[in-house]
Amino acid sequence: MNIILLAPPAAGKGTEAQILTHEYSIPQISTGDLLRSATKKEDALSKEIKSIMEQGKLVSDEIIIELIKNRINEDDCKNGYILDGFPRTIKQAEKYDEMLAEIDNKIDYVFAIDIDKSIASSRITGRRTCPNCNRIYNVNSDNLKPKNKNLCDDCKIELKHRKDDNAETYEKRYNAYLEETAPLIDYYDKKKILYHIDGNINKDNTHKQIKEIID
Ligand code: AMP
Repeated sequence: MNIILLAPPAAGKGTEAQILTHEYSIPQISTGDLLRSATKKEDALSKEIKSIMEQGKLVSDEIIIELIKNRINEDDCKNGYILDGFPRTIKQAEKYDEMLAEIDNKIDYVFAIDIDKSIASSRITGRRTCPNCNRIYNVNSDNLKPKNKNLCDDCKIELKHRKDDNAETYEKRYNAYLEETAPLIDYYDKKKILYHIDGNINKDNTHKQIKEIID
């Protein structure tokens, strides 16, 4: 199964990808997570990528395509995977189509999670992530809170608040979404693989709609 989750920042892509991963035993590929772990180094390229991310801008298509190419060729991706945060531009989508054609593969579902901007931006300040397993929590939401204050339920280590999860950077990330990523909705709609999902309620409701379509 080859799934793409397409949505503005903080619409619940990462949370839904983690639920699907458990349910269908296929990995989540988050380009944001891949970039965050690639930028732990101190070299010039890492610093440059980190600065782009902190400004809420998009990293270059070339870097992203190289990351994805390497990741989808890993063994655990043989039965499919869930793309969370890729593609984010028409160029990335076209390159991805070429990559899939070369290996005689195809995209099964593109889920566009629609959400009101005010709801998404209000989720941003409460979002926390486990630096070890990348599990996503939200301290402002009853069904996404960690059991122990600021500790990952699984790894028992302190949760982190992403530097780009603030109101000012959110605005820039949202605009990058509107300009660069939203045109993908039409791109996949024309291919008849796009499904709209209402992401305004909560994670269970988002998942229920997606599961109904897959099953
Ligand atoms: P995310 O974790 O998906 O919210 O992504 C965090 C940041 O990583 C984004 O704001 C971008 O700076 C960068 N990023 C993640 N995925 C991509 C992508 N497919 N193309 C370009 N930049 C990306």
